[in-house]
Amino acid sequence: MKNCIFCKIIAGEIPSVKLYEDELVYAFMDIAPINYGHTLVIPKEHHTSVATIPENIAGRMFLVGSRLGVAMRRALDADGFNLHLSDGTVAGQVVMHAHLHIVPRWTDDNFHWNWRQLKYESDEQRDKMAAKIQAFFQLKKDDSEVADAEA
Ligand code: 5GP
Ligand code: ZN
Repeated sequence: MKNCIFCKIIAGEIPSVKLYEDELVYAFMDIAPINYGHTLVIPKEHHTSVATIPENIAGRMFLVGSRLGVAMRRALDADGFNLHLSDGTVAGQVVMHAHLHIVPRWTDDNFHWNWRQLKYESDEQRDKMAAKIQAFFQLKKDDSEVADAEA
């Protein structure tokens, strides 16, 4: 896609430090890492939302991401890693080409997710919420059209 920095990175028009590439995905070092080694895995096809990515490509992204996490544990002596994906501006997505972050973690890295823990007011409130989501949940092939229309 024109004017997409990640499409330009895949095309080699913008330089990147590549870690892995195959016919479906491209993995490279994040320019402003949370921790040193922070890597991004992106689909070669342009998708704004993760929800439009076909299953084989999404699966490859997750597989490559988790294996890169293992490589970080072994190569960098990381104690663990986070896989993170922001979908939508409100969720913190800045680059509108879907991407999976792989962030190596060390016990003393002094980084903390700002992760709050609310409590449901009642079991009923929680169960209604679950039923509402379930009513719209679908795993059909045309999910991508739904997500595309909403993007
Ligand atoms: P987001 O906030 O959209 O989930 O993450 C976008 C990520 O892309 C950020 O972590 C940012 O540092 C990274 N990024 C943005 N522009 C470039 C670039 O030109 N090259 C590389 N390697 N990373 C980039
Ligand atoms: Zn793109």
